[in-house]
Amino acid sequence: MRRTLGAVLVLSLLAWAGTVWTYPPTGLTIWTVREQLILLTGLGAYTLMALIMLLAVRPQWIESRMGGLDKMYRLHKWSGILATALAAAHYLIKIGKPLLLAVFDPVAKAPRSAAWLDVFRGSAKDIGEWAVWILVVVVALTLWRRFPYHLWRQVHRIAAVVFLVAAFHGVVLTPAAWWLQPAGWLVAAATAVGSACAVLALTGNIGRARRHRGTVLSIDPLSGDVLSLVCSVQGDWRHRAGQFAFLTADRREGAHPFTVSGADDGTGRVRFSIKALGDYTRRLQTSLKVGQAVTVEGPYGCFDFQQDDGCPQIWVAAGIGVTPFIAWLESLRSKPDCAPRATLYYCARNKADAPFAQMLETLCAQIPRVTLHTRFSDTQRPLTAADLLAEHVRGAPWPQVWFCGPTRFADALKQGLHRRGMPVRQHFHQEIFQMR
Ligand SMILES: Cc1cc2nc3c(=O)[nH]c(=O)nc-3n(C[C@H](O)[C@H](O)[C@H](O)COP(=O)(O)OP(=O)(O)OC[C@H]3O[C@@H](n4cnc5c(N)ncnc54)[C@H](O)[C@@H]3O)c2cc1C
Repeated sequence: MRRTLGAVLVLSLLAWAGTVWTYPPTGLTIWTVREQLILLTGLGAYTLMALIMLLAVRPQWIESRMGGLDKMYRLHKWSGILATALAAAHYLIKIGKPLLLAVFDPVAKAPRSAAWLDVFRGSAKDIGEWAVWILVVVVALTLWRRFPYHLWRQVHRIAAVVFLVAAFHGVVLTPAAWWLQPAGWLVAAATAVGSACAVLALTGNIGRARRHRGTVLSIDPLSGDVLSLVCSVQGDWRHRAGQFAFLTADRREGAHPFTVSGADDGTGRVRFSIKALGDYTRRLQTSLKVGQAVTVEGPYGCFDFQQDDGCPQIWVAAGIGVTPFIAWLESLRSKPDCAPRATLYYCARNKADAPFAQMLETLCAQIPRVTLHTRFSDTQRPLTAADLLAEHVRGAPWPQVWFCGPTRFADALKQGLHRRGMPVRQHFHQEIFQMR
């Protein structure tokens, strides 16, 4: 993620530097420096905004390169934060002019945009200011974890409109001479890509090609707060074990992501195991009905142990994060010899909170290469990095760790593994059950 963000910033910087090199500002004064800073921060913010829009439409080719949609959304979020910071800097430098005027003499301004765009300059500046304020509010609500997700989702939709506003602002105020320079080409490319994606988003077409109509076939409570839901899906449905789909049972509520907690048996049936983690998933436990129409969009995700290097693996499933591992085990049941040598830790608070313990025992009994350890935090100490590496011999290749569960638990394990020298970037794989 950091590399992608860095690459976008470097690209903006190079495009700006290339342009300044061939089209240098007249003289080096506080005013030309201010002007260039405004242009550079604006270019960086705008390029990041185009990236945000591109990621928002979930292109398949990016998903496989980035290692899953959950990682794409994390990049989307941090691009949003960075774009807002740059846009705010752009705006602050602009409105800071009176402060400079108190110290420096003003100079006459050269015309900036192409003459035919001059009539739009005033409105482009005004709506650009509004766009910055709206971005700041959207980012603040994103970071304020207590703000309800369903309300945040509605507010967040405005981001596509903000992009189109920023496109108008950017195109009108880009210096005329830039259009034949690298910075102008970058503005043009960002405008084309971002606007196309914004229109896709505003017309409700994101993920349309991967949407399938479905019907609820069965609903079984697995425990007090987890239900198992089986749906039949129309059309050509195929998924890899460990992938997830967006399920819409109520159009007003919209789509929620759930792992397909079973292997693909070619019958067009998908199973979801849904834990009541919030308002909607709590309501689902009682509101779903057999025969109800649903929409299943997917599959998405790259949580796939088969990307292994032949080394032993460690699988850590915490709470409802066990669902991708169930799908993996089911897919290996018919070919147990193809399973990697793996140790699976299923972590839950206690027996009542571990509705999948029996199912895992049955599955692992059929796949001898996978060893199951069930851990209850009410009676045992929490699983640590030292436990995971207990059998690791110094100098031997590091195992691949596959984790799905609460983020704080993942962070604690990752830090511990890193302290013990494991290159976690290559060896720790995490499915993130959170998209905001
Ligand atoms: C890749 C992935 C796979 C998942 N697999 C499972 C699974 O197999 N079983 C399971 O029980 N849960 C799974 N989840 C979590 C599940 O999506 C959330 O628990 C559920 O959406 C919460 O909705 P809520 O309205 O009840 O809770 P809220 O309290 O409204 O939301 C709790 C959190 O869930 C996330 N969330 C809520 N709504 C959405 C949405 N529409 N889209 C994306 N994220 C949302 C947000 O991060 C939010 O902060 C998965 C999540 C992801 C990202």
